[in-house]
Amino acid sequence: MAKRPWASSHGRSGSGGFPPRIRRAILTRDGWQCTHVDPHTGERCTATERLEVDHVVSQADARRLGWTPAEIHDPANGVTLCAPHHAARTRAQATAGRARARAARPRRRPPERHPGLR
Ligand SMILES: [Zn+2]
Repeated sequence: MAKRPWASSHGRSGSGGFPPRIRRAILTRDGWQCTHVDPHTGERCTATERLEVDHVVSQADARRLGWTPAEIHDPANGVTLCAPHHAARTRAQATAGRARARAARPRRRPPERHPGLR
């Protein structure tokens, strides 16, 4: 089935959707620094190299919500992340997407009330 699982996270609907001008605006707004905040320490990542711009609401989700391309690529929907944090976030989103897909279809039948009881 999944012959090349490593190839699936990039390409097609992947990142890089922001026009260069918007991308620059996002990077400038965020001070050209990764915006990831460690949930345990509350400290912001200090990376200022290998920065990438990611969508806050993923393009797939935004399209599902009926957003226009202008809304999807609005600076408000962009965050600056270093490459490792971007990769981690993309992985987390993929996992969440799979979990959602799993949750959407019930795996077992809901318990039925005994027809004799009420
Ligand atoms: Zn980072």
